[in-house]
Amino acid sequence: MAPDAESKTTTGRSVLVTGGNRGIGLAIAKVFVANGDRVAITYRKGEIPAGMLGVRADVTSEEQIDAAFTRVEAEHGPVEVLVANAGMTRDTLLLRMSESDFTDVVDTNLSGAFRVIKRASRGMIRLRRGRIILISSVTGLYGAPGQINYSASKAGLVGIARSITRELGSRGITANVVAPGFIDTDMTAALPEETRRSYLATIPAGRFASPDEVAGVVSWLAGDAAGYISGAVIPVDGGLGMGH
Ligand code: NDP
Repeated sequence: MAPDAESKTTTGRSVLVTGGNRGIGLAIAKVFVANGDRVAITYRKGEIPAGMLGVRADVTSEEQIDAAFTRVEAEHGPVEVLVANAGMTRDTLLLRMSESDFTDVVDTNLSGAFRVIKRASRGMIRLRRGRIILISSVTGLYGAPGQINYSASKAGLVGIARSITRELGSRGITANVVAPGFIDTDMTAALPEETRRSYLATIPAGRFASPDEVAGVVSWLAGDAAGYISGAVIPVDGGLGMGH
């Protein structure tokens, strides 16, 4: 049976989604708003979506993350559900990939997740509960030409989730990875038509997905039904990675 503290957390929670101003992050944030949670998002520029607390932060800056958490904690209470979603690509083939092409992507996607998780864990340890969900990618485990930097950063998230599971599992904290396949957002809209066509040919579902299809899985992982799941990688990829 779920412990009492756990069963009280299904709504009205303090949720923070990094990069929640657009794309997959926005779809995730909206699901939590619809669930009655107090939702904060980080953004760097542009508008703050309705019904959410927007905190400006770049995940490459520990200071900005700390300030963002301090504000969220003051307005919504300690973060109970953290979705580390902010991410970027800088695709190019290995021989053309510069040192900064590699380190910038890792600094955002992997070190950025480390920074927000570390900051969130303080409050979660005190509360003795927390849900951490890391948005990885099918390419983290499947690989992709031109994405050595991105794949490395996304594979690293699996190591983070599994180590948190072992380090903080006994404190009522779970950490899971969601690995989307090809989702229609600004990130994939930037790909050449030929690349989109060749991706489509390899996806068993025969289609791309909407951000809402990722958001539903994230919401489920943050709910009571998933209280005993930790260290898992949940693919949302139309069968592309065959469960990996
Ligand atoms: P978008 O490019 O549409 O959005 C990226 C988001 O990340 C934006 O909110 C952006 O903020 C934020 N972001 C990027 N860099 C930083 C940074 N340094 N600090 C803070 N925020 C940052 O991408 P998606 O919505 O498609 O992707 C969301 C996540 O899902 C990413 O981690 C991506 O790798 C992953 N993913 C996406 C897939 C897809 O097919 N679309 C497939 C698999 C995984 P801002 O608006 O300020 O730029």
